Amino acid sequence: MLRRLFWSAVCVGTLLVVFGVVDARYVFAPLLGLLIWRIGIASFGSLRAGAAHLPDGPAQPVDTTVERVTYWCSGCGAELLLLVRGAAIAPRHCGERMTEHREIARPLRP
Ligand SMILES: [Zn+2]
Repeated sequence: MLRRLFWSAVCVGTLLVVFGVVDARYVFAPLLGLLIWRIGIASFGSLRAGAAHLPDGPAQPVDTTVERVTYWCSGCGAELLLLVRGAAIAPRHCGERMTEHREIARPLRP
């Protein structure tokens, strides 16, 4: 709706300038303002999309008897054992993404 209105205003403004009805600065200055506003809104939208690491649902406990997930920091050597999974991606430590190591227990033979 807003996009259609924007492009309609651009077309009407351009036609008014082409036919000499209105001076160009009275048409293009507001359109330039609208363009700057749209770029600003799009920039905020990209910032919101950058928070994709936030979990979508509640945290899920990990059964450590079946699956053992550890994260290792290549910067300082810290190692973490995952007990509750909040997000699907690895956490950060020392400013870098940690390396995931996953061990899945084999079923015991009868
Ligand atoms: Zn670290």
